[in-house]
Amino acid sequence: MSSKFLFEQQKYDPKILSHREELGERLIGNLMVNFMLPKDIPLVKEVVFKKDGFDIPGVHLLCYSSVVRNKSGAYEAREVGSDAIRVIGLYMSERQGGLLPLVRSDSRINRVGTIPSIIERTLACIHAVSLVCEDPAKCPNCGAPLFISKAGREVCSEICWTRRNNV
Ligand SMILES: [Zn+2]
Repeated sequence: MSSKFLFEQQKYDPKILSHREELGERLIGNLMVNFMLPKDIPLVKEVVFKKDGFDIPGVHLLCYSSVVRNKSGAYEAREVGSDAIRVIGLYMSERQGGLLPLVRSDSRINRVGTIPSIIERTLACIHAVSLVCEDPAKCPNCGAPLFISKAGREVCSEICWTRRNNV
């Protein structure tokens, strides 16, 4: 039985180097063919992929892969088993001067089950978050995307109520 075949059947185990490398290489390969580009983010060691081109300027999707490059240059999933792959839709608000998480666009993929199932769930998640990025929940007053505030509320990204108060 080849090791390739075993990876189709075996549960992913973050303690085994060959599992981490197989997941890392396969995940990065799959994300690359899905029209995403790796993006360097200062202070973030894991490989992050960015997808943009959505209708609303400033909207984009990030996938935090949980994959790093190891000393030999190979991709490797992080050893900490509890680290999840994360997919999030963001909106760059000029008015707020920062990136805001779009409503219903933040998902985590736990690295459990077989390697193919982890990749399948990641791609399904990117698809679901892409749909949110295509058509995010919008403010009923001004039509700007809604984001989740630190307090967990759905808030207008262009804080339009303050402008109304200023009129
Ligand atoms: Zn608004």
